[in-house]
Amino acid sequence: MDFSGTDLKTRVIDRFGRTFPRKIWMDYSRQAVRQGFDRLYLLLSFDCDTPDDALAAEILDAALHQHGIQRSYAVPGSMLEINPSIYKKIAASGAEFLNHGYLPHTQLQDGVYRSTTFYAAMGSGEVVQDIQKGHQLITTLIGKKPAGFRAPHFGKIPLNMQKEIIRPVLHDLGEYYSTQTTPLDAMKYGPVWWENNWPEFPLSGSTSAPYSILDSFSYLKNPAERKVTPRYSTILKHTIWQLQDWRICGLLNIYVDPSHVIDDPGFMEAIRMVCDLGISSLTYTQSLEICAQEPAE
Ligand SMILES: [Zn+2]
Repeated sequence: MDFSGTDLKTRVIDRFGRTFPRKIWMDYSRQAVRQGFDRLYLLLSFDCDTPDDALAAEILDAALHQHGIQRSYAVPGSMLEINPSIYKKIAASGAEFLNHGYLPHTQLQDGVYRSTTFYAAMGSGEVVQDIQKGHQLITTLIGKKPAGFRAPHFGKIPLNMQKEIIRPVLHDLGEYYSTQTTPLDAMKYGPVWWENNWPEFPLSGSTSAPYSILDSFSYLKNPAERKVTPRYSTILKHTIWQLQDWRICGLLNIYVDPSHVIDDPGFMEAIRMVCDLGISSLTYTQSLEICAQEPAE
């Protein structure tokens, strides 16, 4: 995810979060309990925007499945078409697939992947078409309708577009959740942001920076060498350990690009830590079974 160009207000909030992380996570935890979460769960999703992600996902998914970890996948339809057999195999082993639109989210230019397909810059008709096509591709290639949606480069989607254009299409398609907002919303609303009976799952931050998204993209060595630095797994492991130590309830809703972490032993170390600490994992639909409806005020 590319969050470059964040505004001053966001940077000030981020600084506040880094100063009082425990207080902020405790407030989050209280909202989580109100929503029905009585402990901490890992909600792990993968964004597979390149053919490299498919190859890495095949290896990672088998290891995660072996550890009993639940997995959710966001793969654009155009990427599913390139590696259908890998994703069919992953789905057959119990992973959940989200609608992630159809068009590619990144394109290789002179050896460097550059982000493409920004909904905010597209006409509403094109956005609707991309969502419908993504839904269709999952349904035909995976053999099961997706239950939820994540937009490409989701941190940059204006809220009115989410509410007025995206949600109505999802509703018509029979999808019933989305996960495309940032930790700012997680800390404001809790693990699930209910609005007019629509559940939105904001992504999580870390325990050192609760308002900043904890994703693999933010820790890449450089744009050409898309591999995480060791700092990524250090922060991930520290966050897992600390949330458990602080007895935080809710969802550690993190997403990873498989190709970013496949060569980093630290990622699977973090997963083994989740298992050793007895933290259960959930897919999005499983999370909805815990907090089946909008809590009363
Ligand atoms: Zn994507």
